[in-house]
Amino acid sequence: MEAVEIFEVGPRDGLQPEPEFVETAKKIGLINRLTEAGCRRIEVTSFVNPKWVPQMRDAAEVFAGITKKAGVVYSALIPNLKGLERALECRLEEVVTIMSTSESHNKKNLNTTVTDQLKIIEEINHAAKQAGVRVRSYIATVFGCPIEGPMESQKALDIALALESFGSYEISLGDTTGMAGPDSAYHIPKMIQRALKKARLAVHYHKYFGLELANNLASFNAGIRIFDGAAGGLGGCPYAPGAKGNCATEVLTEMFRRMGIETGIDQKKIEEAGAYAQTLSTLLHQKEACSC
Ligand code: MG
Repeated sequence: MEAVEIFEVGPRDGLQPEPEFVETAKKIGLINRLTEAGCRRIEVTSFVNPKWVPQMRDAAEVFAGITKKAGVVYSALIPNLKGLERALECRLEEVVTIMSTSESHNKKNLNTTVTDQLKIIEEINHAAKQAGVRVRSYIATVFGCPIEGPMESQKALDIALALESFGSYEISLGDTTGMAGPDSAYHIPKMIQRALKKARLAVHYHKYFGLELANNLASFNAGIRIFDGAAGGLGGCPYAPGAKGNCATEVLTEMFRRMGIETGIDQKKIEEAGAYAQTLSTLLHQKEACSC
């Protein structure tokens, strides 16, 4: 049976933009539900400066409090070397870096230039390798930037090749504000996957009137087999006005189930985890009210 991998980002990417602090026990409750649903890869938190992202100030407590299951990789986003240090203290086996193809979004999100952030990720890779930690890397705004508009796919390709050369074992192409369409979701990942020699390629789509599902399917048809999703469709981007949530994991898994493709995730349990995730969000309800 054909299979795909789902990378669950709900506890981090889903909850990070929430304006009201989500209690640590509730974050842990979500992650444990995701583990029980069969998720094998979960981005649990972000080791980011709590001054900038107070929502993730309990990163170490969350990581210490979850029930870890053998065979499940619990990772965390780190914006810089300081974040890596904190992640290493918690003995994570995988960290996730981020940068944008767009200078403006990179500046707003990370307060660095594209060139400087590449250098930081190179240093992270170097230090992580010495510590025996794997590095996954996001490239944001691949399919368009809310500030700069359409992005040249050549930029994403150049960054992907640089990340691969630094040692990132997996690269995820992010559609930060839901600007991709089935055509770009087919051609851009296919072009980048062809150019990569070692690194695995994933896609990360955000909601836009259901196009996120069409985009995931287009990328599947282009040969991609790793998909990011957030239970409950939570998320957004605090530095990208109008950004809607991530593609809901339970919708993604249901699509693959109906195609006869194995995800390893229990459909009923992931739907329950998604419903639980939605109870933690105030942003989701505000956005739904606004988009009418
Ligand atoms: Mg996202």
